[in-house]
Amino acid sequence: MSGCADAARVLSPYGHGWVVCHAPLSSLRRGAISYDSSDQTALYIRMLGDVRVRSQVGFEPERRGSHPYLGVDFRTLHSRAESAGSIPARRIRRLFSFQRHLLSSRLLRGAPHLNPLHILDEDYCGQAKCMLEKVGSWNFDIFLFDRLTNGNSLVFLTFHLLNQYGLIELFQLDMVKVRRFLVLVQEDYHNQNPYHNAVHAADVTQAMHCYLREPKLAQSLTSFDILLGLLAAATHDLDHPGVNQPFLIKTNHYLAALYRNTSVLENHHWRSAVGLLRETDLFSHLPAEDSLSIERQLGSLILATDISRQNDYLSRFRTHLDENDLCLGHSTHRHFVLQMALKCADICNPCRPWELSKQWSEKVTEEFFHQGDIEKKHKLEISPLCDSEANTIASVQIGFMTYVVEPLFAEWARFSDTRLSQTMLGHLGLNKASWSAMEPEVSGSSEEGESESARATEEPSSRALSQGSQES
Ligand SMILES: [Zn+2]
Repeated sequence: MSGCADAARVLSPYGHGWVVCHAPLSSLRRGAISYDSSDQTALYIRMLGDVRVRSQVGFEPERRGSHPYLGVDFRTLHSRAESAGSIPARRIRRLFSFQRHLLSSRLLRGAPHLNPLHILDEDYCGQAKCMLEKVGSWNFDIFLFDRLTNGNSLVFLTFHLLNQYGLIELFQLDMVKVRRFLVLVQEDYHNQNPYHNAVHAADVTQAMHCYLREPKLAQSLTSFDILLGLLAAATHDLDHPGVNQPFLIKTNHYLAALYRNTSVLENHHWRSAVGLLRETDLFSHLPAEDSLSIERQLGSLILATDISRQNDYLSRFRTHLDENDLCLGHSTHRHFVLQMALKCADICNPCRPWELSKQWSEKVTEEFFHQGDIEKKHKLEISPLCDSEANTIASVQIGFMTYVVEPLFAEWARFSDTRLSQTMLGHLGLNKASWSAMEPEVSGSSEEGESESARATEEPSSRALSQGSQES
């Protein structure tokens, strides 16, 4: 089942007759970040805004894709994954479908128990259940959990957390609706995306849980904040197409026109989540203003994950910490901290233990390079970091860690100076060293090494800028 049509219904108030909104040619601004060519961090983030999400570009048949000048049917671009092991892949999908059917039919028979793992208990074993006992561990292996739950990690993990925090009871949520909502959310992630799929959403939700338990947050957050934080984490990349915003813009995708080239993906994730909330009537028992408030705040959290706005959030965070004026008794400050927590959760891969971190790095780079391959094939300009001949996993990771992850987590550790923060910074340092050992020419600490690194990031940035100009 796809939530796309529902998302489209929700989106319909934006009207017909899509008009691409062009930014002034003279502007050096896209999203909320200014490009100052002397600011290497801003340039790198700008680049990531271009390239953060690459993948096997897939627009489902029912999804409205529009690539008029390319004349490409993007549905066929998935053929690689299909041909690589089509029969087993199809069988696995059928099995998953069966699991979903089983899940839905049991739910429809109206047999929800308070134990969120009752289906797992029957069909599988205690292993997944055992793992959930340590769901607050930073070493939690989401890949293993996903295998143990037969590809249903997002549903089981999120349900478990909602239950564990007592949110289902407190907000009098209908268990059948909660499950249906989570199953629909999980299904609306594209499992053919190497990175931006439901396992990433589950991983971000698990990280969010770890942050919510940190003393400063645990002492001040309300149950409403926790509910929002978990829902935002689970839905923050909903229906991600596996390509980035500039790709959607340059191929004239309707979403780019709909959201006027601004936080295109994040707006879509948010509106898709709202579509599913409304479809499942999850909060229909609450007063209208409360459910609208949930939708609005969910949007504010998801929109904060737009990496092109990283510097805005980071400088606001830094200012608050410098002035020591974060007062978590104020709902606006708590909301800001939730935004920062979600941003950290979203890019925490390099702060995980190497064995987990390495897998994420490989997956995200696979998405990057796949987009580059498509751009190459269709004679489009290859987006920064997407050219597999000019980049390596190590070079991409080292730049990402240096210019995006380290600055964010350094501030987070100032805010929440705990063992977890130190653990994350420790893994970050070790992981960067491991990638550096594989890519000495990019990561050397010598002046020569630094200039190499600068060139490695500058060159594609220039391309990104010129690409931005063409688009504007
Ligand atoms: Zn994400």
